[in-house]
Amino acid sequence: MTTERFAPSPTGLLHLGHAFSAFKAYEAARKVDGQFLLRIEDIDFNRCKTGFENQIYDDLHWLGIRWNTPVMRQSERRAAYDGALDHMWKSGFLFGCSCSRKDIAISSAPQEGGDALIGPDGVVYPGACRKIKQPFDIPNVALRFNLQRIEKETFSFEDESGLVTKFTKADVQKYIGEVVLARKDIGISYHLAVVLDDAAQGVTHVTRGEDLFEATKIHVLLQHVLGLPTPVYRHHKLIRDEHGKRLAKRDDARSIRSYRDAGMSVDQVLSLING
Ligand code: GLU
Repeated sequence: MTTERFAPSPTGLLHLGHAFSAFKAYEAARKVDGQFLLRIEDIDFNRCKTGFENQIYDDLHWLGIRWNTPVMRQSERRAAYDGALDHMWKSGFLFGCSCSRKDIAISSAPQEGGDALIGPDGVVYPGACRKIKQPFDIPNVALRFNLQRIEKETFSFEDESGLVTKFTKADVQKYIGEVVLARKDIGISYHLAVVLDDAAQGVTHVTRGEDLFEATKIHVLLQHVLGLPTPVYRHHKLIRDEHGKRLAKRDDARSIRSYRDAGMSVDQVLSLING
């Protein structure tokens, strides 16, 4: 059975970009009589607010989107995350890193001048702590994905049309780097949580913005290491403002809430996305 999901973080109001993503996944699920699940990505307890979570349910309902229950909440998944981190640490897929942003900026600056390589998670980590062998000691160190421990070299994922994206571990190491999988402040990272949650919810199809295309490669490597299935990935275009800038949570003027408050109908809001 096809299982799609929408996984918003309650750190702000849903905007048109979220509505677009939710609709794409919802319609794809409905077309094949599949399931549509909701997951609240609330691991970052410093930024998540219950009020935003309630608004997500309310806005989705207003848009006519319905989901199968139960709703998964990342804040209730601590044990699963800790178990995976423990397993990865014991099998050598993690290394501790005590570098500050400043340390990383300094050690990644090319000797001949110019700018450091920037990946989707920021400056590509130059690997300084790999040699130091930091202990497994969250919250004093962050834990990074030890890509060198992965033996397989070539990976791939597919979209629903069967289009295959192939990539190598070496390219991930070079252009994305060894990303943080357990943050010092919240004990887990988006990358690891999302992979574990998609597997736990039995998600077969992931619909997400094209800004996450590179992150998907990390997720495929994590699925390999953790023995989890790789879903089909559909990366959609981003909804942008009139200046071509992608919408952000702080962009309240384009929030679903503000369109509702202004008296717009669901169809009018949808025409902004599909038009
Ligand atoms: N919480 C993430 C977001 O809203 C989920 C996206 C994803 O993993 O597909 O961008």
